[in-house]
Amino acid sequence: MRANDYLDRKIETATARETANLQQALLARQLDYLFARSEFYREKFGAAGIRRKDFRTLRDLARFPFTTKEELRASQAAHPPLGLHIAADWRDVIRVHSSTGTTGKPSFVGITCRDAKVWTRLTARSFYTQGLRKTDVVVHAAGLTLFVAGLTSKDAIESVGAVFVPLGTGASEKALTIIPLLGVNAMHCTPSYAAYFADFVREAGMDPRALGLKKLFCGAEPGAGIPAIRAKLEQDWGARVTEGLGNADMAPIIFSECPEQSGMHFNGPDSVVVEIIDPQSGDPQTGDPQTGESLPHEAGVTGELVYTSLQRECVPLLRFRTRDRVQVLGTSCACGRTGFKLRCIGRMDDMLIVLGVNVFPSAIKDVVSSFYPATTGEIQIVLDKPGPGVEPPLKVVAEGCGEPADWAALKLAIERKIKATLSVSASVELVRAGKLPRYEMKGQLVKRAYETAMPVEARQP
Ligand SMILES: [Zn+2]
Repeated sequence: MRANDYLDRKIETATARETANLQQALLARQLDYLFARSEFYREKFGAAGIRRKDFRTLRDLARFPFTTKEELRASQAAHPPLGLHIAADWRDVIRVHSSTGTTGKPSFVGITCRDAKVWTRLTARSFYTQGLRKTDVVVHAAGLTLFVAGLTSKDAIESVGAVFVPLGTGASEKALTIIPLLGVNAMHCTPSYAAYFADFVREAGMDPRALGLKKLFCGAEPGAGIPAIRAKLEQDWGARVTEGLGNADMAPIIFSECPEQSGMHFNGPDSVVVEIIDPQSGDPQTGDPQTGESLPHEAGVTGELVYTSLQRECVPLLRFRTRDRVQVLGTSCACGRTGFKLRCIGRMDDMLIVLGVNVFPSAIKDVVSSFYPATTGEIQIVLDKPGPGVEPPLKVVAEGCGEPADWAALKLAIERKIKATLSVSASVELVRAGKLPRYEMKGQLVKRAYETAMPVEARQP
């Protein structure tokens, strides 16, 4: 390995023992801070009967209670603007981001000067892992305003010395002009946008490859790491496609893929402790959210990601349940990084259960995409009733290419492959290419047909 293979060699190639020692020391300090500064956690710890002296080694973290998004929302509603869980003085806050999530109400996240510094370094390390270098010119074709990965990506990409081009969203026409003029060779976007923009370029009469993008840094939704979807994007663009994963409440990008493309490395052992818990034993939907058992970081393990911040001033969170379902892919890599590797299977809120079998919409998209170029890879799952339980067959709409007269065999082949790989019975309806909606930000793979069937006043706001 050469020195310029890593941004922070010491942290990225640390042994398990070195990482554990570092995290234990940082967590002890973060807990001191929480006990001294966070009313939210003092109350929580009091209710759980946990004292500061109960933490001696990293293992003791499992004795502490989880924190859920619902608690953060309630804390913010009761103590505006940022909630009882902010532990910094409002005068020390330098920026506020927000996410809307599924409820539509903004959820704010503040950062101090030091938080911004930590976020920037971790995000820079993530981009560097994906192959960003000083010589690159990167177009940011994603949210720039309230989105946590907007301004932080700007700071991070600039800190590496690369050129940051703040395009934002809804600017494909502009991108067509700007990319060749500036010699842009990399794009940061959602995988949905990478697919959308390839179609846009083709409709403009050009081959996407002619634009010269060689690196696509994707994130904000699963997709870029799903084999068939990645293969199609790489074929469309003639570029290497890598992905990152973060969390609005914790840090913009925490995991990211190296050029080996074999899962996203954990990049932030100095910022975050990562636990993967058994989602069944502690799913808030099914029972007690406080009992989720911590699972080992070993290849094959699947579970819910749980984050604990190590250096946060404004929003220090302890054992925060992300509801991201992940699978560990490996614990070593040819790139020399020692951070374990995973892929995100999907949000637990998106999971469907068909006759007791869990299925994520992105897995259906993966199967359909594997039939490219006979299909475009675009799909929509239609639910007639609220999930997660679905009566079989699962209704899937996909786009067929060529003539409808030739689709009978394709429909059957897709249904068979879904059954064989996911153990779910599906009924596939093929429509003409371009019929399904395209998304410039995150894709919507599920259509809730029952919502449009309901009278307007009965719908969720
Ligand atoms: Zn690697």
